[in-house]
Amino acid sequence: MTAPEAEPPTLLNITDVVSGPIPPRVMNLSLPNMLHTRIPEIVARKGPPPWSVRVIADERNLVTLIANGPGTGNRPHWHKDFDEWWVILAGRLRWELTGGTVIEAVKDDIVWIPRGTVHHIMNVGDDLSLRLAIAMPPAVHYFSACEQCGYTDDGPRAFW
Ligand SMILES: [Zn+2]
Repeated sequence: MTAPEAEPPTLLNITDVVSGPIPPRVMNLSLPNMLHTRIPEIVARKGPPPWSVRVIADERNLVTLIANGPGTGNRPHWHKDFDEWWVILAGRLRWELTGGTVIEAVKDDIVWIPRGTVHHIMNVGDDLSLRLAIAMPPAVHYFSACEQCGYTDDGPRAFW
């Protein structure tokens, strides 16, 4: 039996600092961190859900485009040290939260969940759902059961 992996500390230690205005120093031709990302192109390339794509990754941001088909969603979890938020780009999604709060959100909505609250996200519509998730590295996930739907957690307690 192996010991569980040590949890990384949360540090904001920004060592990559520029000294003045410069043209873009990164011109990535693929994700993450492209100057211009076209979501319809990602959707066409990835095909049928479920899938997720890291769009932006730096010392402060982890931005992920997530697609789910009807009736599918995430594994309920919470975060210790950051608040997470999402922009809904397509479909109808439901957030079930610790304490019984339920949020349903559609295209052009923003959902913000403070640290410590389990969020169980499901596509409750009839079509593809797309959401842009904004998290902060290292974005440790603490998996947990969902109080509302009875989802029982049977996997590892955390991953990153
Ligand atoms: Zn989360």
